[in-house]
Amino acid sequence: MKRTYSLVLFLIGMGLTQASVAKLNIFACEPEWASLVQALGGSQVTTTVATTAHQDPHRIEPRPSLIAKVRRADLLVCSGAELEIGWLPMLQRQAGNRKVLPGRVGYFETAQQVERLGIPEKLDRSMGDVHASGNPHVHLDPHRLLKIASALSERLITLDPSNTAHYRSRFDDFTSRWQQAVQQWQRIAEPLKGARVVVHHQDWDYLFDWLQIVKAGSLEPKPGLPTSAGHLAKLRQALKEEPAVAIIYTHYQSPKAANRLSQLTGIVALELPYTVGGGEGVTDLFSLYDETLKRLLKVIP
Ligand SMILES: [Zn+2]
Repeated sequence: MKRTYSLVLFLIGMGLTQASVAKLNIFACEPEWASLVQALGGSQVTTTVATTAHQDPHRIEPRPSLIAKVRRADLLVCSGAELEIGWLPMLQRQAGNRKVLPGRVGYFETAQQVERLGIPEKLDRSMGDVHASGNPHVHLDPHRLLKIASALSERLITLDPSNTAHYRSRFDDFTSRWQQAVQQWQRIAEPLKGARVVVHHQDWDYLFDWLQIVKAGSLEPKPGLPTSAGHLAKLRQALKEEPAVAIIYTHYQSPKAANRLSQLTGIVALELPYTVGGGEGVTDLFSLYDETLKRLLKVIP
């Protein structure tokens, strides 16, 4: 009798172990979110990522291999706010996985968790390829990032309640390391306050908002549109009157326009990592911020 009882207990135990080893399958649209998911989910999640730091997340090819990954996913973690509007809806339609459709618990938009900058007062497509729901490039403000982490951690718990303690402890650990890092970043970034910087695209608005860096112009005459000789001439004139310390771009953008303006003005063109994988040693969100600040501080006189 006793033996049967322990056998039953053993089998129940096996069942529980089985349940807790079934990992959540997560499909992240961009490397920064894959990195955050990994930090929060650890051994309980398997993460695939749709884009690398070398691909423009506004426009990628919705390849069959990506459709297959969305089909298998328990959760999609994407920027949203229309960043992926050119390819993600197509992947979701083709994958036939109802769990991860907009509005379902298996679809998580990071930009929806925070207050967004640059929401147009009036939508006018003649303004360029504007982000109609506001700027979706939210990951370079550490305060917004922590809010996103909190909501994402709760979503993991909703999807996998048997591992609540695991997700809570990882979130607490991430939070304390992140808050400590933010203190340090704010201290070392002090000289960047008020610095004027030219950008390629509006990918840096949240970073600038956090550190009070001033956007001195954009290589894109309108969001999403390529630069032109006329626009560069205007920028050159404006920078003559009020100079800037750098012209920044990232790996997924061609350095041509930044280099051209640099030749015209003598202002240094500077590549920044933008996301995880965008530079040597940029392997997670912490090193992404470290490296971004390090490179920006180098150009401050
Ligand atoms: Zn954009």
